[in-house]
Amino acid sequence: MNPSMSIAATSVMVLSIAVGSAFAQIPPSTAGSVDPALIEDLVAANRILSQQGVLDHSGHVSIRHPANPNRYLMARSLSPALVTAEDIMEFDLDSNPVDQRGRRLALERFIHGETYKVRQDVNAVIHSHSPSVIPFSVTSVPLRPIILGAAFLWTGVPVFETRNAGVPAADMLIRNRDLGKALANSLGDKRVALLRGHGNVVVGSNVQNAVRRAVDTETNARLLIIAIGLGGGPINYISAEEGAARDRDPGIPARVWELWKRKALGN
Ligand SMILES: [Zn+2]
Repeated sequence: MNPSMSIAATSVMVLSIAVGSAFAQIPPSTAGSVDPALIEDLVAANRILSQQGVLDHSGHVSIRHPANPNRYLMARSLSPALVTAEDIMEFDLDSNPVDQRGRRLALERFIHGETYKVRQDVNAVIHSHSPSVIPFSVTSVPLRPIILGAAFLWTGVPVFETRNAGVPAADMLIRNRDLGKALANSLGDKRVALLRGHGNVVVGSNVQNAVRRAVDTETNARLLIIAIGLGGGPINYISAEEGAARDRDPGIPARVWELWKRKALGN
């Protein structure tokens, strides 16, 4: 290569690196401010799920941005019990932060972005390490509903197996978009999917709905383990007809939310 060619090639390379890095650093635009009442509900959801034993030091809750379906809101990486309004961040559906400001991001945030991409009906996503669901993710025993509050599980609960995801996942964590997409595909049109040996993903039409589902899924799993342990013959599960009837008339869901939120926020 002659010297001028070399300089030209180097210039192109430097320019492309500069353009590439500049492009990578452009954050997505914001969808704008959000009603503080909605943020308060998202904070409450984090606290409630901690108090109810669904979330521990990890796990997260998100809501779709009300002004732009291609954005979602979720806390920075922080124990859910400690989340305040100041910790809530905005992301695009590739899970890039709008305004990171040095804050640490939840490692498994891709669960949220990839689910919102494929589920237009979903406005809230929870990823938990809900302890009582784990036995149903590592055995052939299906998680089916036995309590009225969890009748929504009648549509089925798939188990996502990272070993079959077609993407490397040695530590079983949903560390990237490809794994998030594989998990969202496993969830399909269901309300809950289990992650083998790890936890679950729970979705809802709003954050109140998703929180109730996450709590009731944990309770149902715990009681189903007890029922199986009693060894009294076949389990009398809630039927598809009963589950569908409950979908049509879910009672007064606002009542339990009011109670949990007051306990969680102390006001
Ligand atoms: Zn996890």
